[in-house]
Amino acid sequence: MGWKLVCRVCGSEWVLNVSYRLSDFRGLYHFCRVCGKNTFHEIVGSV
Ligand SMILES: [Zn+2]
Repeated sequence: MGWKLVCRVCGSEWVLNVSYRLSDFRGLYHFCRVCGKNTFHEIVGSV
């Protein structure tokens, strides 16, 4: 399973494949390949 995340800066979507629950989080900082830097990513759903 995984979590669908959206970069708040550029809006690109990607999937984080982890088994642990992220439902307690609204998002996290992660490196965005499009932006080329760490940006805030919102969790928009599970996949
Ligand atoms: Zn981005």
